[in-house]
Amino acid sequence: MLLSTSKGQSTPKERENTQFLWKSDEKMDWVRSWRAALFSLLEDIPIHLRPLVASISIDGTSATTLIVDSNTGEPLWRPFLYNESCPDALPTVKSVAPANHTVCSGSSTLCKLVSWWNIEGSNKKSALLLHQADWLLWLLHGKLGVSDYNNALKVGYDPASDSYPSWLRSQPYSQLLPSVIAPGTSIGNLKEEIRTQFGFQEDCIVCAGTTDSIAAFLAARAAQPGKAVTSLGSTLAIKLLSTTRIDDARFGVYSHRLDDKWLVGGASNTGGAVLKQFFTDEQLQKLSEQINPMEASPLDYYPLKAVGERFPVADPNLVPRLHPRPESDVEYLHGILESIAHIEAKAYNLLKDLGATQVEEVLTAGGGAKNEKWTKIRERVLGLPVSRAKQTEAAYGAALLALKGAPHDS
Ligand code: ADP
Repeated sequence: MLLSTSKGQSTPKERENTQFLWKSDEKMDWVRSWRAALFSLLEDIPIHLRPLVASISIDGTSATTLIVDSNTGEPLWRPFLYNESCPDALPTVKSVAPANHTVCSGSSTLCKLVSWWNIEGSNKKSALLLHQADWLLWLLHGKLGVSDYNNALKVGYDPASDSYPSWLRSQPYSQLLPSVIAPGTSIGNLKEEIRTQFGFQEDCIVCAGTTDSIAAFLAARAAQPGKAVTSLGSTLAIKLLSTTRIDDARFGVYSHRLDDKWLVGGASNTGGAVLKQFFTDEQLQKLSEQINPMEASPLDYYPLKAVGERFPVADPNLVPRLHPRPESDVEYLHGILESIAHIEAKAYNLLKDLGATQVEEVLTAGGGAKNEKWTKIRERVLGLPVSRAKQTEAAYGAALLALKGAPHDS
């Protein structure tokens, strides 16, 4: 069975509140809504299917962090959302972590933990850190303090040595860190009261989860090294299954562990959001039909919505290049699509140069995946087979994790 959380878009009020740390009930609304959504999803499973559910897993938003009471599991503080930054904690984190470590970003889970730790009067003795997926899974299995090595990466867990590094263990706040197991590992049986309330089987198990974006990669079933998934959504993100681990903070490239392999990823600021500046989805479809994808466009752009690029070019001052604009919209779109394909090719080449397994096949997710002409352009530019991933829903990936942890005869 599958469950997937979605990124709650923060409201202006929520963003305003990120400036301060509030503790009032009102600010617990996120937690209440996540819990309510989980139980309403369980309620939605048709009654006759419930006894057939062998295992459950959940993916959650990476770096969405909860500080909970280590006795009751109830949040002690409002959750820190994935995109919140805690710059106040950054100097402390940078002083203990290795240079350019994933935790050295204001929005990392570790910065959120340190920021909370530094608040006067915080209930340090009986506190525990959990990620969104960990906490939701806890509601189902009842064993407090378990996470997975994908969610734990941004708090500093080292998936290669399968432990928290000594620089982290020696910090006073390390007592809050959860224990970590592999995604898809059985944590335990579904709590009895939930089992009986909903009519699940006695042996239904709950498995460790993962992050949203890894679950989306798992959904595409790109299981061999060299298989990659390009997400053509508002931005362009690539993920490649590699036998070697790559981390390079200059380009925002880091690796998640997937069993005995590594999921290497990077994200460019180019992508569908630039297309949206010029064309509606309907125009994109109509104009694309008139493009000859076998013909290379002579137009050379660097489509960005704003100044600055991180990957595959690390240049905060890179200026968007979208001129000259030809009279024909078909030619203009062709030029933009082709230029984005060149950025994608450069991105895969960079991962190879950094030491990742060479890409052999690209599956595509996101709004741009439905554009067949673009797929053909990308195939020509990348020199690789490119196709649309059959499944891209993170919830499908979470279901595959649950299947992995399920007893073999289920
Ligand atoms: P996200 O979830 O990142 O916001 P989506 O995966 O929903 O994005 O994709 C939305 C993007 O897809 C939009 O930016 C839009 O420009 C782009 N898009 C929609 N239709 C097409 C199309 N036919 N060809 C290329 N891009 C498209």
